[in-house]
Order: sequence, then structure tokens, then C-alpha cells
Amino acid sequence: HTYGQLAQTGCALHVFTYYDDVDWMDELLKLPVQSIGLDFVHGTGNLAHILNRGFPKDKTLIAGLVDGRNIWRTNIAAAARTLKQLAAKAPRIAVSNAGPLYHLPITTAVEKFDPALLAHLAFAEERLHELRLIADAYDGKAVEAWWTPLDVGANMAVRERVKKLVDAEFTRAPSYPARRTAQRKALPLPVFPTTTIGSFPQSPELRKMRADYRAGRVTADAYKTFIRQKIADVIKLQEDLGLDVLVHGEFERTDMMEFFAQQLDGMATTSNGWIISYGTRVYRPAIVYGDVARPRPMSVAEISYAQSLTTRPVKGILTGPVTVLAWSFVREDVPIEDVACQLALCLRAELEDYERAGIKIVQVDEPAFRERAPVKRRGWPAYFAWAIKAFRLTCASMKPETQVHSHMCYSEFGEIIEHIAAMDFDAISIEASRSKGDILESFERIKFDRQIGLGVWDIHSPAVPTVDEMRGIVDRALKLIPRGNFWINPDCGLKTRGWDESIAALKNLVALAKALR
Ligand code: GLN
Ligand code: ZN
Repeated sequence: HTYGQLAQTGCALHVFTYYDDVDWMDELLKLPVQSIGLDFVHGTGNLAHILNRGFPKDKTLIAGLVDGRNIWRTNIAAAARTLKQLAAKAPRIAVSNAGPLYHLPITTAVEKFDPALLAHLAFAEERLHELRLIADAYDGKAVEAWWTPLDVGANMAVRERVKKLVDAEFTRAPSYPARRTAQRKALPLPVFPTTTIGSFPQSPELRKMRADYRAGRVTADAYKTFIRQKIADVIKLQEDLGLDVLVHGEFERTDMMEFFAQQLDGMATTSNGWIISYGTRVYRPAIVYGDVARPRPMSVAEISYAQSLTTRPVKGILTGPVTVLAWSFVREDVPIEDVACQLALCLRAELEDYERAGIKIVQVDEPAFRERAPVKRRGWPAYFAWAIKAFRLTCASMKPETQVHSHMCYSEFGEIIEHIAAMDFDAISIEASRSKGDILESFERIKFDRQIGLGVWDIHSPAVPTVDEMRGIVDRALKLIPRGNFWINPDCGLKTRGWDESIAALKNLVALAKALR
């Protein structure tokens, strides 16, 4: 109906669809529009439909043949073949990108990649070049050598290790009730324990120091000393505030994903590959091009230094495998499940190092756990199967007395609560201001027996929450969550907040916990 109205304006209408197959193809093809754009990169249904059932002769088919979401070069000969098949059904045809290009960095030309890797990459401008190559190949013109199968970063030991994984390695033993008893003994915490999610404010001073270090204006030693001082300061601050479980502040991390990517074999990072995360926020996705291995510990020094300064437990925090993959461009030549296991094994080794360094609480952040789920629900079972496996593989070797936390934020969690429960952590800190309490009902519905830190302070707001405001959230939550399972914490890291507001809010948060006790 709407398109019928639009058609009456007499404007030429071009409808683009992307990211996946169209389920309502017959209806789409009947719309009173001039051209229809279809994604022929993700899914196989669009191609099958057009080849079997044809395409309206009075419309133009805009064939999305280059990937708008990933960075691997297009196989030009194969794309030209698809174009030929489609053109036989749709004589009016155009070549295009299969999706908007804002998911990609602008160009590889400004990066310093190893030439062997560069030969496989196409960012947005290179995608446009590919459109020309496909059209030329279709026209029978000779085109430059462009695509070869991915052949960089193979590590046979890593592949063998993943192939030999057995079920037991994905399962933490003993089960939660026994772990809970062991953890109570190892970690005497008060009721309503207080903690934060990990990062503390990254001030202009810190960002300048990091830029100076990268530019070679500051030595590695001076940078390390600076970071250690920041850690010492934030430990002292948390002790003074009276928090129960401390963090090291994450000052060494530019970004929770990039920091780990820079230290893993098989992954690359960019210097200018910014893309939009939301609103005006941007980040640089990493690239998983090879088999992923951890040549050496990544953040053990900082976390064990933090623990050495205090008798209170320091949480050892790292970014989980699903989130690292969700925020990276991932190779497509091996199943995502295998890549996830490779990454999980690296993180598992890092967690084991935390444990050896005396860390009693670890936290595996998975803020992108929900976001990475496919657009279409039919893709969910396969996605959650590998995502849960990867998380479990990351944590399953932890000792029973080591408390495993996860953290998630800014998603609708109610609908995936069973999957969250299957991750088998001991505690979760989760954002609740957007999901407006439905998350609580979900926890109740599945009789969730783990510990929950429902964010009492929305850190995306510059307002300092009062004790009463936070108390309101807790009072509502305690109708559904047993008080013995309840943690008091903000709903995400404090990285983007200022120091003054953070200190003021944390004072209130600790006051709230004391009042509750
Ligand atoms: N540990 C991270 C931090 O505190 C988690 C950030 C996130 O959830 N996006 O910054
Ligand atoms: Zn968060």
C-alpha cells in the first residue's frame, strides 16, 4: 500500500534490501518500483529465487555482488559468473555493493599492512574498484589479478588443538552449587558486595601519554611506569571508597577489543580503520586473518601488580571471544566456530595465568553477545551454539573456588535469557535501565540461581545517581532476586566518564550497599 502511494508521486523508486536473503521475494518483486537491489553475498536464497523464478522484465535488478560488511576481496571471476546467470533472467541489471559501505573503513591505502595480508583486503574504496572489475570481467575484458584464497597466518598446532578438543573441556566442574560453597570459603564477601565493571576514566592526560608513547616521544619504560602509577592510584581510591571487589582500571587498554587483538597472532589492527559504533562513537575493528594464538601473556602483569597492592580481591578482566569476533572482521575460509575456539583457547590460557598470579575473581566481558546474533531468528540456534561453546571453553578450566563473572550491556536480554544461563558463569553484571525490568522477570522465569549485579547507575548519563535513586532499582529487583545473590555495581565501565562524577557516584553506591546491609 505504501509503495503504491509512493509510486503515485511519479518519482523513480529504487528499493534496496541487504544483509540477508529476502523471505517475501514474490511480494517484493511485485512492488511498483523501477529497480530492486538484492544482496547476493549473504545467503543463497536470493540467487536461487531469481534463477528459478525469474525477475520482472520491466524492472532493473541491482545485483549486490561485493560484501558491504566484511573486508575480504571479491573473487571477481566468480562474481562475473553470477552476474551472467542473473543477467540471463534480468536483462536490465546493475552491479553494486551488497549493503551500505559504512561498515567498512575507507581505504586500505593508508594502512601499513604486511603486503601478503594486504593482497586479500578490500575496504570501501577498494569495493568500488571491484565493481569496475566485475563489470569488465563480465564484458570479457582482461582484468588485473585481484583475488586468491586466503593463505596467511596458518598455524597447524592451533588447528590440531581445536580439532582435538573434547566435550569435557567445555564443561566447568563441579556444577554451580558446589562452586558456590567453595567460593564462599575462598572469598569472604559481605552481602550486597560492591564492585565496578572494570575501566576507570581515561583522562586526556592518559590519552596524551599513550599517543606520545606510540609516536616514540615517550619510552616504553616511562609509559609502563605511568600506567603502574595509574593502577596504584585507582587501587588506593577504591580502598578509600570502600569497594569490596577491586579492578585495575584498564588504563593500558585503548579499546577493550583492540588491546587484545594487538597481542594475538593471526590478528591485525588498523591505524585509521574507523567505523561507526553508534551515534558519533567510532572504533577500529580488528582483523582475524589467520589461526589465532597467544604468544605471551597479555595483561597478567597489570592485573597481578594491582593485586599485589591490596588484600581485597582484584577482578582479572578480559574481553570474551564472542565480543572480540563481533567487533572484528573475521576470516571466512574456516567455520566461525573454529575461529571462536581458537580465540577461546588464548583467553583460557590468559585466565589460567591470572589464577596462577593469585587472582580469585575473573570477568569475561561479553557486551556484544546479543548484538552478534544474526538478523534472522532461524540463524539463532547455530549462532548461540558456537557462542556459548566459545564462552564455556574460555572459562571451563577455572578452579571451583575461582569466581567467574561475565558482563553484558545495552541489549534486550529477556529473549535470550536461556542462552545467557547456558554460559555457566558464577555471576553476571548486566545493564537493566533499557530492558526496564523485563530482564528480572526473565531471570525469575528460568529460576536463575547465579549471582546478579544489576546496574544501579546508568553510566551513559552524566548525572550522579543519588542513594535513593539506586535504592529504588534495588528494591524493585529484590522482589524477584534473592538478596544473597545481589551485587551492587554500575551498569558498564567508567572509561567515558569524568573522575569527579565517578567518585561521587561510587561514594553513593557504597553508601547504598552499607544501608542495605
Ligand atoms: N570491562 C569493560 C569496561 O569496563 C567493559 C566495557 C563494555 O561492556 N563495553 O570498560
Ligand atoms: Zn558494558
